[in-house]
Amino acid sequence: MPAGRRSRPNLLLGACLGAAGAIAIALQGGVLDPQPAQASSLWSRGVFPVVNFAGYTSHFGTRTGPWGAVEPHYGLDIAAPMHSPIRNWWGGVVESVINDGTCGLGLVIRSGEYEHIYCHLSGSVSGGVYRSGPVAISTGQRLRTGELIGHVGVTGRSTGPHLHWGMRFRNEWVDPALVLRAMARARGGAG
Ligand SMILES: [Zn+2]
Repeated sequence: MPAGRRSRPNLLLGACLGAAGAIAIALQGGVLDPQPAQASSLWSRGVFPVVNFAGYTSHFGTRTGPWGAVEPHYGLDIAAPMHSPIRNWWGGVVESVINDGTCGLGLVIRSGEYEHIYCHLSGSVSGGVYRSGPVAISTGQRLRTGELIGHVGVTGRSTGPHLHWGMRFRNEWVDPALVLRAMARARGGAG
């Protein structure tokens, strides 16, 4: 991938159009601070899901969407060039393979009490199997932390290449940015 400058308007376009549909559920009791039951150093094991990070284009919570409507957004949009690799945040088991008009092609992976959700992937889904390059993933499959699980695309309700990264803890939506901050703190960064 070329490492050329990416203009801000392109990044702003790389967001998804709301969270209506299969991946949208009501916030129940607000946002949990993902304080782990275990020692906080455990968070350093997490892997940032996007290779070739190009910016955050839409944050978790109520936002003004790309076309001006105020709407809830249950995830974090991470822009990256088309077909950039996506890595598994945490080892777990594939809960479902998504193929719909909102998330587009996507995966839900369960790691203990967390579910992490990846939307707008490139590639294809047929017979319940998500495929992209060397990747072939189906429900029930076990995935390692950091494993290649797909590539950035524009499937579903998306205005440009980005990963919509969602997270649930005990069935409630959590801001993935809180998890990223916990990971940074655990690594001794500014968080
Ligand atoms: Zn999104």
